[in-house]
Amino acid sequence: MQISEHFTLEELSFSETAARLGLDNTPSSIVVANLRLVGVVMETIRTLLGGRPIIVHSGYRSSQVNKAVGGAATSAHCFGLACDFVCPEFGTPYDVALAILKSDIEYDQLILEYGWVHAGLAQRGIVFRRESLTKRSAEAAYESGIRA
Ligand SMILES: [Zn+2]
Repeated sequence: MQISEHFTLEELSFSETAARLGLDNTPSSIVVANLRLVGVVMETIRTLLGGRPIIVHSGYRSSQVNKAVGGAATSAHCFGLACDFVCPEFGTPYDVALAILKSDIEYDQLILEYGWVHAGLAQRGIVFRRESLTKRSAEAAYESGIRA
């Protein structure tokens, strides 16, 4: 099912970990509604990146799946409010994060992770923090800003 012009519900709720461990990762209707908001923002990001294809690594993660992948307990992924992605034709995750940082796109959290970019949205009715962070490895602490 298309969630927006270039993104499908399947790619925004697919989890390799869920498939491997047999965990349920079916989004609820509330999560699907949130993923539509993610779709809107991801279309804006896609346009910002010159309309180049975006590869989604992770969108919605049920709490079981999130635990299995070692995600933060309060992760926006659990609400269907985040997307981890890359855009190799545009550049490295650093290039992508920097372009988003310089834009006026309304994200809550932009995180340059080790190998992908995390774009998170705020819950409905909550003001976007527009916070940017860098995480260099699974073990590393979050650093403020987008850092090379
Ligand atoms: Zn993420």
